[in-house]
Amino acid sequence: MIDLVIGADGIARVRFDDPDEKVNLLTEAALARLEEILDRLESGGRERTLRGVVLASAKPGVFLAGADVNAFVTVARAGDAAAAAAKARHGQSIFSRLAALPIPSVAAINGACLGGGLELALACTARLAGDNHRVSIGLPEVKLGLIPGWGGTQRLPRLIGLSRALDLILTGRSLTSKQAKKLGIVDAVVPVEGIEQAACVEALRLAAGGVPRRPTWPLADRTPGAGGLILFVARRKVIKQTGGHYPAPICAIDALGYGLRHGIEKGLAHEASLVGRLLVGDVSKNLVGIFLASRTAGSSESAGTKTEPITRIGVLGAGTMGGGIAAAAAMSGLSVRLNDVNAEALSRGMKQVMTLTSDAARKGRIPRHEAARRAALVGPTVDLSGFSRCELVIEAVVEDLQVKRDVLRRIESITGPAAIFATNTSSLSVADIAANAARPGRVVGLHFFNPAEKMPLVEVVRLPATDPDAIAAAVALARRMGKTPVVVADTPGFIVNRILMPYLAGAMELLSRGLGVVEIDRAMVAFGMPMGPFALLDRIGIDVAAKVSDVLKTAFPSRRMGPDGPDLLHAMMQAGLSGAKTGQGFYRYRSGGTRTAGTSPELARLVSATYRPSARLAMTGDEIAAALVDAMANEGALLLSEHAVDRPEVIDLAMIFGAGFPPFRGGLLRHADVEGHQTIAGRLAARGITPAARLTEGKRFHS
Ligand code: NAD
Repeated sequence: MIDLVIGADGIARVRFDDPDEKVNLLTEAALARLEEILDRLESGGRERTLRGVVLASAKPGVFLAGADVNAFVTVARAGDAAAAAAKARHGQSIFSRLAALPIPSVAAINGACLGGGLELALACTARLAGDNHRVSIGLPEVKLGLIPGWGGTQRLPRLIGLSRALDLILTGRSLTSKQAKKLGIVDAVVPVEGIEQAACVEALRLAAGGVPRRPTWPLADRTPGAGGLILFVARRKVIKQTGGHYPAPICAIDALGYGLRHGIEKGLAHEASLVGRLLVGDVSKNLVGIFLASRTAGSSESAGTKTEPITRIGVLGAGTMGGGIAAAAAMSGLSVRLNDVNAEALSRGMKQVMTLTSDAARKGRIPRHEAARRAALVGPTVDLSGFSRCELVIEAVVEDLQVKRDVLRRIESITGPAAIFATNTSSLSVADIAANAARPGRVVGLHFFNPAEKMPLVEVVRLPATDPDAIAAAVALARRMGKTPVVVADTPGFIVNRILMPYLAGAMELLSRGLGVVEIDRAMVAFGMPMGPFALLDRIGIDVAAKVSDVLKTAFPSRRMGPDGPDLLHAMMQAGLSGAKTGQGFYRYRSGGTRTAGTSPELARLVSATYRPSARLAMTGDEIAAALVDAMANEGALLLSEHAVDRPEVIDLAMIFGAGFPPFRGGLLRHADVEGHQTIAGRLAARGITPAARLTEGKRFHS
């Protein structure tokens, strides 16, 4: 899996190629093999039989994708921080041996070089990157609640300066070859086809006394004594951004600062002990759990079903959603026919496609010619030409049952018998849309979220009649488009809207009892939601929310799916306060949707005219958050007991990726397990809400 070949030029070529995996990973076995190779390199260097070493990959588009995340789970389960730190120390010792070789080492980065992969490259004397667009260089550990633990927090600031290293480690973002060259992480960008040879030439140059040429650091990093201030500012910013919920970024700042004050040896020891603590902590366990669950989302529901990958799709309706779906599909290399009855809407949809593809080129993620090629994958049409050859057609036409039934019939009449018809409806029943379908087994729901090109979740809705291979194909399509698919039965509101509605209704109820819009929103942001319920209602649009609430109230008349009694949402709509898109909702907005300070004064009048609280309810922020999250957990429990979803993880993923439920809590139902079912059931009952049986059974959702 890691080959060692010694050339006649005295350069050792270490080639990574894991035959069992799509990517090369630094597994335990890979580290053990590296140790063997280092023995050989050390003796060859001492005896002067070797002049240099090149570390390269035999896998196209992947250098080293990092450590094996599954191994984190095993270590975390054991719960022993010291043992976890010892594992990090072991990895560090290997990379330190590489850094201390008596011969120069050059990494030939031909693709993904992430996490432990970059830490290995950082331990080399120099690094070259390929000129291909599959190169991505970064330290994404914070996204898993960790910090780089194999020397990354020590070597990166020494290479590129503190401020730039902090930025990369705290954001976890990855860089293209060009960006990495600009920062000085790689020494040169070379044609990927000859990268190993170029690295050998570089190793020989370094062996002959050459030195790597690197850009100067920013002034702040060169100013003696500025480090303390840089770290102080970074820490303040992190606390503000994370609300103190995520320990990893703070630990990263600590590790960098400690290493700069005490030197690399002590810095490495400190880094390892921080990693040990983080690995066994709840936040990292939750983030790693979400990462692994999202990688396999939808696979158990479509397990054992063979399906041909879809390459050609049709999109009906080029409005807000259709344009976004077409753009996302083209970006993932699918061939798309885009139809709208309205020529102007069609050209707006095409503009969405052009914007997304050209933005990707502007940001350096794909070359210009590739952006043009992907945009050209979308063929606009006002009739249905080309649709007969589509393997799957997604309708994103207006939310009207009859219109959707009509387009289903049209599509069935022109496509082949295996073609799949997918509806993007958000509030209609997929079964109603499919009621007169000639091929009900080929109908699914594919519910994208707005904006479709950005939002990571897709709900794949299955009907009892849907063929398993149609589900599997829809899941695979969503994956190909870079989305996390969650499979759900045809229940009103599916997962996300159904769970959000009792939450939003709960917020409206608290408002009706005298609590403030800002007070409630603040409580939810403090809990970790990206925005509060009223800011969310403004974003969704008051009219859309009122419509979804009406649908869910009709479907579940005994539950709180919207305002009980006086209806503020409809009053707001009548007064023209329909949310961000109209400039006013619960808050005020500038054109373009940016929020201005404060709530809308018109709203205060409507609230006091609609509600007349006899006594103002007094609740702390924590009590507000508990009340609103309880309402969501209750609905999640009901979805589970109705078997609308197969597993609690599905709900956790859906709420994180579709509604921004705080990832550090591990998901809605994981949070409910931590909070305690009896506690939640008791609080719900006290508010007059019947707790779901699943909450009173006393059995945790997650084992
Ligand atoms: P939209 O009004 O922006 O776009 C609908 C488009 O469909 C219009 O351009 C219209 O001209 C076109 N159209 C109407 N009848 C047609 C037909 N017979 N054939 C082809 N085109 C036709 O609406 P939208 O917001 O994009 O919503 C589309 C669908 O997606 C709806 O079912 C909606 O419920 C669902 N949805 C919307 C959102 C959202 O936030 N906007 C989110 C998820 C799902």
